[in-house]
Amino acid sequence: MRPLAELALAAVTPLRGVVFDLDGTLLTDGALTLEAYRSLFSLRERGLRLVACTGRPAGWGAVIARQWPIDLAVTENGAVAFRRDGARLSVLDSLPEEARRARRERLLEVVASLHREFPEIPLADDNQERRSDVTFDVRETVNISSSRVAELRLAAAREGARTFESSIHVHVTLDAEDKASGTVRALARAYGDDATKALGTYAFVGDSGNDEACFSAFHLTFGVSNVARWARHLSVPPRFVAAQPEGAGFAAIAARLLVLRASST
Ligand SMILES: [Mg+2]
Repeated sequence: MRPLAELALAAVTPLRGVVFDLDGTLLTDGALTLEAYRSLFSLRERGLRLVACTGRPAGWGAVIARQWPIDLAVTENGAVAFRRDGARLSVLDSLPEEARRARRERLLEVVASLHREFPEIPLADDNQERRSDVTFDVRETVNISSSRVAELRLAAAREGARTFESSIHVHVTLDAEDKASGTVRALARAYGDDATKALGTYAFVGDSGNDEACFSAFHLTFGVSNVARWARHLSVPPRFVAAQPEGAGFAAIAARLLVLRASST
């Protein structure tokens, strides 16, 4: 992971947009700061497309896609995306409605069994807004030990489910998407972007374990400083890292991108 000062203009020139995580990256302690929010407007004013990419629920994505200065919201670790289309909102789900309902029924059986085995790990308080996954709260309002979290993930795998671990949650899903495949799929469906090209023309900014697929797939990747906590768990760390955590780190990364782009015009 190299400091932002070493980021060169050549790496920034091909960019059409920025894909960014929410909790621990854009959001500070789960909330927006003025400087982070302002960075979104600044990036957008410079012509960059903005894609929020989060493990948070589809229901939250529907809201931010309508209200924030962003082009797409990719939610539930890639499974469901939203695009504002004038006054309408397009839902880009990887599954048709009926298949989604059937898969959810199976998933709820898996989760019921996990809940019996791990009664001390609560469900996250945002599950009602979810379509594709069920999420356990491991560090948002409680502090579950790493070993117990690892046991939960192993038990889910034994049941045939996949898991993603973020800074606060463990997501359990029967879907095949991850943040990278889900983002590329959403960009292709929304804008006809070529999947391979998108990986070289969008930068990614993240902070934790459920960002791993994006750190591996996108060519230009950034971490906010709190990514250091996850560095030994990531098979590919971000290429560049900000000196500041969470929203302040995001603002520093945005500022560096904007300075370089301004120098080229
Ligand atoms: Mg995060």
